[in-house]
Formats: sequence, C-alpha cells, structure tokens
Amino acid sequence: MQDRYKHITRPVFSIVIPVHNESEVIPELLGRLAETCRQLGEPVEWLFIDDGSRDDSSSMLRSARITYPMIRVIELSRNFGKEAAASAGLARALGEAVILMDADLQDPPELIPRMVEQWRAGYDMVLMKRDSRAGESWLKRLSASCFYRLLNRISDAELPVDTGDFRLMSRRVVDAFNELPERNRYLKGMIAWVGMPTTTLTFNRDARAAGNTKWNYLKLAQLAMEGITSFSVKPLRLALILGLLAAATGGAFGAWVVLKALLFGVATPGYASIITVITFLSGIQLLCVGLLGEYVGRIYIETKQRPVYLVAHDSAEQDQATSARPESQPRRTVNHAVSS
Ligand code: UDP
Ligand code: MG
Repeated sequence: MQDRYKHITRPVFSIVIPVHNESEVIPELLGRLAETCRQLGEPVEWLFIDDGSRDDSSSMLRSARITYPMIRVIELSRNFGKEAAASAGLARALGEAVILMDADLQDPPELIPRMVEQWRAGYDMVLMKRDSRAGESWLKRLSASCFYRLLNRISDAELPVDTGDFRLMSRRVVDAFNELPERNRYLKGMIAWVGMPTTTLTFNRDARAAGNTKWNYLKLAQLAMEGITSFSVKPLRLALILGLLAAATGGAFGAWVVLKALLFGVATPGYASIITVITFLSGIQLLCVGLLGEYVGRIYIETKQRPVYLVAHDSAEQDQATSARPESQPRRTVNHAVSS
C-alpha cells in the first residue's frame, strides 16, 4: 500500500497524533512541534488523524498546512476512537521512525530528540514511562495501577506498567503492527506483542494543556475489558474453575442433605438453604455465560471483517490528485483502510 506514495519524498520521522476536538491545544502544539523538529535536522512529517472532531480541529489543521507544509491531515469518516485513529496513522506513516503522541501536550514534544537518540543507538522501540501523572485523579491512578497489575498477571505478553501510547517505533515494528489483522484493538498490548529491542525513558507527564479528557470511566472499563480479553483466555479458565468449585460445593451440600434425611428423617422445609444454593449457582452460571459472551462477541466482530476505520479525506492523496490533474476538482474519497 505504501507504493501509492512513491512520489512523496520519504520523511525520516513521522509524528502520528490522533485528534478529537482539540482545537484549544492545536496552536500551542504546532508551535512546540515546530521548535522541536527544527532540532532533528531531518525531514519530518506530522500526521494528524482527525477522529471525527465536532469542533474546528480539522479546518485549523488544514489551514496550518500553509505555514507547516509537513502537516498531513487524515480525516476519518466519524469518531472511531483513539485506538482506531492511531492505527490509521500508523498504517499511513511513511517515516523510518514513527512517534505516536497525544494532541493534548500531556506527552511533551520536547522529548522527541531524546527518543530519537535511543533509536539511533539501535533500539526499535522507545517507551516513555511516566514518573508522575499530574492532573489525574487518585481514582484514575489507582484503577490504572490495579488494571496493569491484573493484566500482567493473566496475559502472555509483558505489558509495561505506567507507559501510555507515547512512544517511538522503528519501521519494522510499525510494519509488523500493521500486519496484525484484529478488529478489537488494544494498541499498547498489540505493540507489546510485537516485541523487538526496547528501551524505556522516564518523564513527568504534564496535565492537559487545555480542554477535557475524552475518556470516561465507562470507556476506560471497555478498554480494560478489551485489553484483558484480547490478550488472555485465562478468564475462561477462571469460569471453569469457579464452575467446578460451585459444583463441588453444591454436590457436597446435596450429599449432606440426603444423608441427614436418611439418618434423621426429612427435616424442616429448608427454604433458606434452597434459596442460597439457587442464587449462588445462578450467579456463577450468569457470570460464566457473560464471560463466554465477551469472547463470542469478539469472535463475531472479527468474523465480520469490517475495517477498523474509514478515511474521508487525506491531504496527501488530495495533493497527489491535484498535482497529477491540475484541472480536476479534489475528490472526497472513502478508502477501505485496512484492506488497502
Ligand atoms: N482521542 C481520539 N479519539 C477519541 C478520544 C481521544 O483521537 O475518541 C485523542 C485525543 O484527541 C488525544 C488522545 O486521543 O490526542 C488522548 O485523549 P485524552 O487526552 O482525552 O486521553 P487521556 O490523556 O485522558 O487518557
Ligand atoms: Mg490526555
């Protein structure tokens, strides 16, 4: 798919930034990026993936291309979520090293030269571990830390604790990532699964420069479920063990009731015990069915083979079309990104 961009001189670095309603931070972000990229001394492209923003983020980015020609704006057809937006960016990035970062300046662009240094030293992946999480509530910090501990205990790939999506990846990591076909995306886990020589730098994570977080606890819980079910089938085993335990307890209890009836005759009607057993067992059954459902639902989504995102507009493709046929109008195209 990269051949479509033969005419473009390949940048050495791609900075991939998913954007969803970030018009408040874009001016500062562009200024700081420009300052940093000047130090890199090599061609850089800035890939902004507008994930269905409802504010004027995308028009701001489009008009910023006059001042900053290295900007490429990819607009998705609607809001697909950060994971999908980042996947779109990684699929279209052309650089030898790709840096993924948030738009809200929680990931300071000033750190990019340090990351590049590690890449030049031969690492394929440079993870940015946060030392502090300024501006985040203690509840978010606590739930994040519990989640990572749980996930690492049950999953097969080692997931780095306290690292976000801010990272540098070499071309071969990005190519390997782009090959992963799954529709249920948990980016951090998928990249960890790829592996390759990795190093970690620490930084202080700033608070958001402006605007509000696009996450709420429901979305975070969904992402956590995604992380757990896409990296481990151990919860299914947990269901099995719970079922076995419940069955064994139920069996022992039944045997005891029968024995008691045989020895001492039929006792009192036993309403309490029946209710206890019924609720306990139906609870376990529902839990196991629900757990199975989580996996079956994901299998269903995978079998539909839908693309992870749809692109409504790509400034690079538009440039190509207008330079090839100057008289033609720029077209709005919808590309099936994953299959292309
Ligand atoms: N984002 C996105 N699509 C969404 C939600 C968020 O592309 O549906 C982007 C957002 O613009 C930002 C990044 O993902 O660049 C991280 O979002 P946010 O800062 O809200 O998350 P947090 O830092 O609170 O985890
Ligand atoms: Mg943020």
